[in-house]
Amino acid sequence: MLRSKTRSLFCLLLIGVTLLCSCGTPRLTQRDYFAMDTVITLSLPEDTDSAVFDGCEKMIVSYENMWSLTLPDSEISRFNRCDNTAELSGVTVDVLKRAYAVSAAGNGAFSLTIAPVSTLWKPFLRGEVQTPPTDEEIEQALAQVDDSLLSFQDQTVVKAAPNVAVDLGACAKGYACEQAVKTLAQQTPYGMVSFGGNIGVFGTKPDGSDWTIGIKDPAAPDQLCGSVTLQSGFVSVSGAYERYRAYDGITYHHIIDPQTGYPADSGLASVAVISEDGLVADALSTALFVMGYEESMALYRTEQISFEAVFCTSDGKILITPGLEGKFQKFKKK
Ligand code: ADP
Ligand code: MG
Repeated sequence: MLRSKTRSLFCLLLIGVTLLCSCGTPRLTQRDYFAMDTVITLSLPEDTDSAVFDGCEKMIVSYENMWSLTLPDSEISRFNRCDNTAELSGVTVDVLKRAYAVSAAGNGAFSLTIAPVSTLWKPFLRGEVQTPPTDEEIEQALAQVDDSLLSFQDQTVVKAAPNVAVDLGACAKGYACEQAVKTLAQQTPYGMVSFGGNIGVFGTKPDGSDWTIGIKDPAAPDQLCGSVTLQSGFVSVSGAYERYRAYDGITYHHIIDPQTGYPADSGLASVAVISEDGLVADALSTALFVMGYEESMALYRTEQISFEAVFCTSDGKILITPGLEGKFQKFKKK
């Protein structure tokens, strides 16, 4: 299961985002494993003790055990089954509250309570059933999708109806990435954590250069459409090209518009969010993907949440928020 090897930064896995190398790049020890339904890569200085990797892996597995929808004993599965209230761990309540704030800022485009609808789509997207859910099934499930049906009383989370259910799929990896960075930064001088479409970087490399993160071209996912440089922080990508399935001439992907119950169709092929906050980067990349460019820019201008973003539109354009001027390099002509 675990693979540990030393290699240059250049060899890092190309997923939603990837790290690019520059001259004088330090050699890193890299460990890859699979958890939280994605490939996780930790890249740390060559002399890092293997106990540091082990500790981080343990932490990530504990998050998976708390929040997985497929594990019946996870805290979230338990909460989803309960009729009304459940006392949850401090860390789970923290994630729920922080994600709730992103939901509120984006008017529910990222919705914690998407589970009744997302669990309808998952068997089809995974190829376990042949047909997409029906309009009737979606309509029925949508009645429970509303984050104002959730409330908090200290450690207790309350739902307004028994069928209300939570899906942390769009923010748990970002939170875990952020916590991994926090922990590792206390143990090593610099490094990088990659969780599928989420990347976190920290510390100063020996040559003092910034980190350069490549962003996949959604139209040709084996290539990059550009790159972003940053000193530290998180980049999260949500795209229609990672998990999708075609049926009867229509392509369905895994990011649901909570207003319709169907895969979002906002004119974006992908969006990358850059933030100092890993959970916000993840949850917001899902929200902005659902909202589309114009609505996302309206949220940006309110300065309610601090972020930058790279938007790849369905017709091949690349648009960036003003704060990325000078930090984003475009590799494509459009
Ligand atoms: P990925 O998990 O591939 O990185 P996202 O971060 O965008 O992509 O999260 C997508 C997952 O989140 C879906 O698989 C589903 O479980 C859940 N989800 C889908 N649509 C939404 C939404 N509008 N709000 C919150 N969660 C969502
Ligand atoms: Mg997300």
